[in-house]
Amino acid sequence: MTSAIRFSGVSRHYGDVKAVDRVDIDIAEGEFFAMLGPSGSGKTTCLRLIAGFERPTAGDIEIFGQVVQGTPPYKRNVNTVFQDYALFPHLNVRDNVAYGLMIAGQMKATRQKAADEALEMVALGGYGDRKPSALSGGQRQRVALARALVNKPKALLLDEPLGALDLKLREQMQEELKVLQRNLGITFVFVTHDQSEALSMADRVAVFNDGKIIQVGTPEAIYYRPEQPFVADFVGSSNVLPPEFVAKLTGTKAHGAVRPEAVSLAAQGHAAQVKTVSFLGTATRVSLDVAGTPMTMLLPKGAVIPKSGETVHVDWAADDLHVMGA
Ligand code: ADP
Ligand code: MG
Repeated sequence: MTSAIRFSGVSRHYGDVKAVDRVDIDIAEGEFFAMLGPSGSGKTTCLRLIAGFERPTAGDIEIFGQVVQGTPPYKRNVNTVFQDYALFPHLNVRDNVAYGLMIAGQMKATRQKAADEALEMVALGGYGDRKPSALSGGQRQRVALARALVNKPKALLLDEPLGALDLKLREQMQEELKVLQRNLGITFVFVTHDQSEALSMADRVAVFNDGKIIQVGTPEAIYYRPEQPFVADFVGSSNVLPPEFVAKLTGTKAHGAVRPEAVSLAAQGHAAQVKTVSFLGTATRVSLDVAGTPMTMLLPKGAVIPKSGETVHVDWAADDLHVMGA
């Protein structure tokens, strides 16, 4: 598979701040690649390095096989969709989408045709004459996408593009974006701090912390086989078991991870103190103290629910304990 974007030992330091620190990435052509991590972990800086708004302080970046040192943004075959995607309120939708082409000096008929095609791609054909104020939030977001697609980039960089939308609309747009990416077949690099968003949309996820990539893998690998406690902890509140605990169970002294939904009440097993019980609608979350280790258990609807303060026994299947680094 050809690489769309490749980082080799890329760093971007601002004085003492290591915004991006010796990062290696290899994103395949046509891949939906998510960069996931907490605020300040270096995701936006990585996108800006790809887009050409920043230059690395060390390392090499290749885009579609070309080293891009010093290549200006408009010659990189990539385009960016920002979270704050401000549209021009006084321009209609078509002219908003065609704006970049106008600046690039394209003729009116050419750019309007391109804008209408881009609007078709995001299912907004026929909306070209409307003003942005006459659109819903989700439709405005799609105009921003069309604006980024209008010059047919080979890769689209999306920086928390759904962050401003409410939950329901965000989930709808997640599905639409995924379908769009499959249909267009172009490479998406999608930045988010939302674990479920990254896991549900991406072919592969890179988990960032402190300017470094901690783990890269499929959503399943990231979710079920975290390689470090940070990943287990960040990606959907897995229970991280300390090495001593894991050593007693398996003989291997390494951190372990057990998904909350894999933990259940058992006649025998580990004695646990029930701390809090929270009804979540589809499940009930129970936080526990298991011999000094905090754990969370997710009980399905219909299960027996313990009370806070109670002492219970909990267990999990041996193969639900993932030993890190094993
Ligand atoms: P994220 O997008 O994951 O939230 P960023 O890439 O925006 O993270 O930032 C990573 C780190 O680099 C943060 O500590 C941020 O404050 C710092 N940083 C980003 N841009 C600059 C800059 N222009 N000057 C100084 N520090 C910066
Ligand atoms: Mg950011």
